Amino acid sequence: MKFEIITDDGEMVAEQEEMQPAFVKGAVAAHEGRTEENPYRRNSFREAWDIGYQGVKQGKVIVKPQSVMKIACMYCQKDMGEKDGLGTEGETHSICEECWKERYPQWLYPSEKQ
Ligand SMILES: [Zn+2]
Repeated sequence: MKFEIITDDGEMVAEQEEMQPAFVKGAVAAHEGRTEENPYRRNSFREAWDIGYQGVKQGKVIVKPQSVMKIACMYCQKDMGEKDGLGTEGETHSICEECWKERYPQWLYPSEKQ
Protein backbone atom coordinates (compact mmCIF):
# COMPACT_ATOMS: atom_id res chain seq x y z
CA MET A 1 0.00 0.00 0.00
CA LYS A 2 1.15 3.50 -0.74
CA PHE A 3 1.28 6.14 1.94
CA GLU A 4 1.24 9.86 1.84
CA ILE A 5 3.15 11.43 4.71
CA ILE A 6 2.30 14.98 5.67
CA THR A 7 3.11 17.23 8.60
CA ASP A 8 0.34 18.65 10.77
CA ASP A 9 0.44 21.91 8.82
CA GLY A 10 -0.25 20.02 5.61
CA GLU A 11 3.22 20.00 4.11
CA MET A 12 4.00 16.92 2.06
CA VAL A 13 7.03 15.06 3.36
CA ALA A 14 7.11 11.88 1.38
CA GLU A 15 4.85 10.25 -1.10
CA GLN A 16 6.63 6.98 -1.50
CA GLU A 17 8.57 4.78 0.79
CA GLU A 18 11.58 4.88 -1.54
CA MET A 19 12.05 8.58 -1.01
CA GLN A 20 13.03 8.59 2.66
CA PRO A 21 12.97 4.95 3.68
CA ALA A 22 14.08 5.24 7.30
CA PHE A 23 11.84 8.20 8.06
CA VAL A 24 8.83 6.65 6.33
CA LYS A 25 9.37 3.25 7.97
CA GLY A 26 9.44 4.91 11.38
CA ALA A 27 6.31 6.91 10.66
CA VAL A 28 4.44 3.89 9.29
CA ALA A 29 5.51 1.73 12.25
CA ALA A 30 4.07 4.28 14.67
CA HIS A 31 0.98 4.76 12.51
CA GLU A 32 0.26 1.03 12.58
CA GLY A 33 0.76 0.99 16.34
CA ARG A 34 3.81 -1.23 16.15
CA THR A 35 6.20 -0.96 19.08
CA GLU A 36 9.17 -2.08 17.14
CA GLU A 37 12.76 -1.21 17.80
CA ASN A 38 14.64 1.12 15.57
CA PRO A 39 16.07 -1.31 12.98
CA TYR A 40 18.88 0.95 11.81
CA ARG A 41 22.47 1.01 12.96
CA ARG A 42 23.79 4.00 11.10
CA ASN A 43 23.19 7.18 13.04
CA SER A 44 21.69 9.20 10.20
CA PHE A 45 19.20 6.42 9.48
CA ARG A 46 18.43 5.88 13.18
CA GLU A 47 17.71 9.56 13.55
CA ALA A 48 15.47 9.66 10.49
CA TRP A 49 13.53 6.63 11.77
CA ASP A 50 13.11 8.26 15.19
CA ILE A 51 11.93 11.54 13.70
CA GLY A 52 9.27 9.67 11.73
CA TYR A 53 8.27 7.46 14.66
CA GLN A 54 8.15 10.23 17.26
CA GLY A 55 6.57 12.62 14.79
CA VAL A 56 3.55 10.35 14.43
CA LYS A 57 3.38 9.69 18.18
CA GLN A 58 3.38 13.44 18.82
CA GLY A 59 0.88 14.18 16.10
CA LYS A 60 3.31 16.23 14.04
CA VAL A 61 3.45 13.77 11.20
CA ILE A 62 0.37 12.23 9.65
CA VAL A 63 0.33 9.01 7.66
CA LYS A 64 -2.51 8.77 5.20
CA PRO A 65 -3.05 5.56 3.24
CA GLN A 66 -3.49 6.27 -0.43
CA SER A 67 -5.85 4.23 -2.50
CA VAL A 68 -6.85 4.48 -6.10
CA MET A 69 -10.18 3.42 -7.55
CA LYS A 70 -10.22 3.05 -11.32
CA ILE A 71 -13.36 4.09 -13.14
CA ALA A 72 -14.45 2.25 -16.28
CA CYS A 73 -17.59 2.58 -18.41
CA MET A 74 -19.95 -0.28 -17.59
CA TYR A 75 -20.96 -0.67 -21.25
CA CYS A 76 -17.84 -0.16 -23.37
CA GLN A 77 -15.21 -0.60 -20.58
CA LYS A 78 -13.62 2.67 -21.60
CA ASP A 79 -11.15 4.02 -19.05
CA MET A 80 -12.76 7.00 -17.36
CA GLY A 81 -9.90 7.93 -15.07
CA GLU A 82 -9.57 7.34 -11.37
CA LYS A 83 -10.73 8.71 -8.07
CA ASP A 84 -9.69 8.51 -4.44
CA GLY A 85 -10.79 5.09 -3.23
CA LEU A 86 -11.07 6.35 0.38
CA GLY A 87 -9.30 3.26 1.64
CA THR A 88 -10.30 0.69 -0.94
CA GLU A 89 -8.50 -0.10 -4.17
CA GLY A 90 -10.12 -1.62 -7.19
CA GLU A 91 -12.42 -0.72 -10.02
CA THR A 92 -15.75 0.99 -10.07
CA HIS A 93 -18.12 1.56 -12.98
CA SER A 94 -19.82 4.51 -14.49
CA ILE A 95 -21.28 5.31 -17.89
CA CYS A 96 -19.32 7.31 -20.43
CA GLU A 97 -20.93 10.17 -22.28
CA GLU A 98 -21.18 8.30 -25.62
CA CYS A 99 -22.85 5.24 -24.09
CA TRP A 100 -25.17 7.45 -22.08
CA LYS A 101 -26.31 9.33 -25.19
CA GLU A 102 -26.80 6.08 -27.08
CA ARG A 103 -28.85 4.43 -24.32
CA TYR A 104 -30.56 7.31 -22.61
CA PRO A 105 -31.01 9.98 -25.26
CA GLN A 106 -33.99 11.40 -23.38
CA TRP A 107 -31.84 12.27 -20.35
CA LEU A 108 -29.04 14.79 -20.11
CA TYR A 109 -25.63 13.36 -19.25
CA PRO A 110 -25.11 13.97 -15.51
CA SER A 111 -22.20 16.26 -14.77
CA GLU A 112 -19.14 14.90 -12.96
CA LYS A 113 -19.95 16.74 -9.76
CA GLN A 114 -23.32 16.06 -8.26
ZN1 LIG B 1 -19.03 3.71 -22.72
